[in-house]
Amino acid sequence: MELRVADTVKTRQLIVPQDRVAVALSGGKDSTALLLLLHHLLPAWENVRLIAITVDEGIAGYREETIQSAERLTGRLGIEHHCISFTSLFGESLDTFLKGRETQACSICGIMRKKALVVGALQARATKLATGHNLDDEAQSVLMNVFRGDLPRLVRNSRGESSGKFIPRIKPLSRISEKEIAMYLLLKHAWNELPECPYTRYAMRREVRSILSGFEYKHPGTMLNLVESKEKIERCDKGSVMSEPIHSCRECGDPCSGDLCQVCLLRTTFTR
Ligand code: SF4
Ligand code: ZN
Repeated sequence: MELRVADTVKTRQLIVPQDRVAVALSGGKDSTALLLLLHHLLPAWENVRLIAITVDEGIAGYREETIQSAERLTGRLGIEHHCISFTSLFGESLDTFLKGRETQACSICGIMRKKALVVGALQARATKLATGHNLDDEAQSVLMNVFRGDLPRLVRNSRGESSGKFIPRIKPLSRISEKEIAMYLLLKHAWNELPECPYTRYAMRREVRSILSGFEYKHPGTMLNLVESKEKIERCDKGSVMSEPIHSCRECGDPCSGDLCQVCLLRTTFTR
């Protein structure tokens, strides 16, 4: 697995000399495996620095433990660790923000987390933002975007593009399955039983995950085929789906396709 990740990083030029790579470290399995792997591969790269960024959304009974796990790991590896909270950035925790709209938890959380990670990465002067998305996550995203009929997002996701103020996002584990990651953590004695986010029960991803794992079990290779199909669509697209010009958000100046970025749109919608 280490060799495969090293090969992906090299052939796709995800990390280049002099990079400061900010790893989005939730403390959960995928991001723990990503940090361990990149730390292991670090000596082979010229002047590359790793930093870890943890977002504290403010989810009671869940996030406290994963933050502690992230702190233990970065302490053990000697990696600079930054923590950024929704409360400091948006003025309230996710729990408070979601009162009465819990069913939309993951969509709202996803938008705010993305912004928090970019702010954290900019503060840490990172040149890349690495996330722990694995093959299962990527395949689930393809199917979810198809189910929602959201072709622009399907193509945008497959570009591994910049977000926020243009920090390139990279996904070194995008060809590694959830099972392989679990095995890797067990072998590295880094497996941690952590609580599950209480909002997971509202997530569409949970249902898609169950459909896809059934398919993968009966028809091995389904997930990889889905991800590769998405990449073929991207190559054929040549900008026709994503032809909207990029503007600056009227409120915060972040790049976006409309008048307001998704975070500012959320704020205006929910404070009316
Ligand atoms: Fe956020 Fe949903 Fe993940 Fe919980 S499960 S951390 S609400 S995206
Ligand atoms: Zn904005």
